[in-house]
Amino acid sequence: MEKMPTEDPRVMGFLGSPHMLFIGGKWVEPLRGESFTTENPASEIVLSEIAAGGPDDVDRAVEAARKAFDDGRWSSAAPAERTRLLLRLADVLEAHGDEMAIIESLDNGMPLSSARQRALVGAVESLRYYAGWATKLVGDTSTPSQPGEWLAYTLREPIGVVGLIVPWNSPLLMAVNKLAPALAAGCMVVLKPAELTSLSALRLVQLAEEVGFPPGVINLVTGTGELAGQRLIEHSGIDKISFTGSTATGKKIISAAAGNFKRVSLELGGKSPTFIFDDADLDKAIPAAANGIFGHTGQICAAGSRLYVDQNVFDRVIEGIAEYARALRVGNGMEPETDIGPVISDGQRNRVLSYVDSGREEGAEVVIGGGRIDGPGHFVEPTVFVNTSHRMRVVREEIFGPVLCAAPFDEADTVDSLADRGNDTDYGLSAAVWTRDISRAHRLARRLKAGTVRVNTPLGVDYSMPFGGFKQSGWGRENARTGVEAYTELKSVFVGL
Ligand code: NAP
Ligand code: MG
Repeated sequence: MEKMPTEDPRVMGFLGSPHMLFIGGKWVEPLRGESFTTENPASEIVLSEIAAGGPDDVDRAVEAARKAFDDGRWSSAAPAERTRLLLRLADVLEAHGDEMAIIESLDNGMPLSSARQRALVGAVESLRYYAGWATKLVGDTSTPSQPGEWLAYTLREPIGVVGLIVPWNSPLLMAVNKLAPALAAGCMVVLKPAELTSLSALRLVQLAEEVGFPPGVINLVTGTGELAGQRLIEHSGIDKISFTGSTATGKKIISAAAGNFKRVSLELGGKSPTFIFDDADLDKAIPAAANGIFGHTGQICAAGSRLYVDQNVFDRVIEGIAEYARALRVGNGMEPETDIGPVISDGQRNRVLSYVDSGREEGAEVVIGGGRIDGPGHFVEPTVFVNTSHRMRVVREEIFGPVLCAAPFDEADTVDSLADRGNDTDYGLSAAVWTRDISRAHRLARRLKAGTVRVNTPLGVDYSMPFGGFKQSGWGRENARTGVEAYTELKSVFVGL
């Protein structure tokens, strides 16, 4: 008999229950009656069977959301009421934190401690943060220069029906980071989780149902990107798509959006540089650089996958990072000693390993790692490359795995030449700088084309600070005022007095 993935009875009950679509406030079977299974990437044990929503199910969900939007049951509700329900959802999610963390760890493979302390805590915080914005979305008054006497003001109105498409790397957090601002702004949502990790979204929507959001406000269509996702991005009844995932899918969304000029927010990939100077506090910089690429098995859009180190400390830094990698316990996320879990799928593992092969073929040298770890589960070794050059695929393309590409710089390099190296990429999501020279740090921060720059800290995300990318790392920003205003339209009203 297959080993049970967990002994938690609530989780076992949830995994074994039917997982349907949530449309117009009801759990419904998909019209074509199809389903797919989801596995634990650490054990390859099948966890659940999930409804495969198709294009016609997306049509139903959009219709239900449109009806709910048009009658104003949520969009015209008192902002304080929206705050109240979002806060209640935060409380209920927090109360189910242990159960949710197990679901997330099983479905995604992340260590249970990360699921509990990062994903869960982050999702609860996100709901509370955006709950507060519902009552703070205000317009401005203005004084037109035209002859006459005027009252001129702006209104912030919810955009309407939004499609939320989220990836598998941090499924609950990514879903909540879109759901919470959309709901705070008064929008209706159709959520499409990644096929590989739909379980936490299903449980979240069950909790939202308990909390009592009006029917049609939150709709959930599980299914593939190819069928359900594609229909959502093309649908003329969708006013906005908010997406996190690959740059390739981002490009499809931009072209599909042309049909009705739907609004688009995109959080895409990255190839983020870290700079370590010889005056840096290496006791902090080394573990931060290591965790920045190995943490979450490298499956983070802002992972620090390129490392530039002052020649004077290059060997010491690389040895420190290799030592960190050697000490990492790679394993099943449900085991308490695990530091990093598997990558999400066999396909993803093959993709990571084929990048490692290409790095070797192009002349880069593996210092540590570079292989698969056998047994059930999609495990790869944390890997460090040196002797890398900017033309190599491993340096140019997002690998989305625990693979670091390092290169030295020397005293001939200036802030400008280092910024050029950092900026020599299609991406622009994040960058990190480690130095005690404050002027150098700020000058580099200004020149780097990245949505977020971290100086002497691993911290790079907070709800009070915008997060998003330059160049092919995306369109728009999540978090902060701008993150919630992204779910609104701005209207100017002129009143001749
Ligand atoms: P992806 O295809 O962009 O998946 C992200 C989401 O988009 C999933 O929900 C996916 O659904 C959906 N999707 C796929 N095709 C779609 C379409 N034509 N229309 C609408 N939605 C669609 O990414 P992936 O294939 O899972 O991962 C590939 C690479 O993307 C990774 O290796 C990594 O480089 C990058 N990535 C980046 C992030 C990030 O946070 N920036 C996150 C994940 C992946 P299904 O998965 O159900 O098909
Ligand atoms: Mg899974």
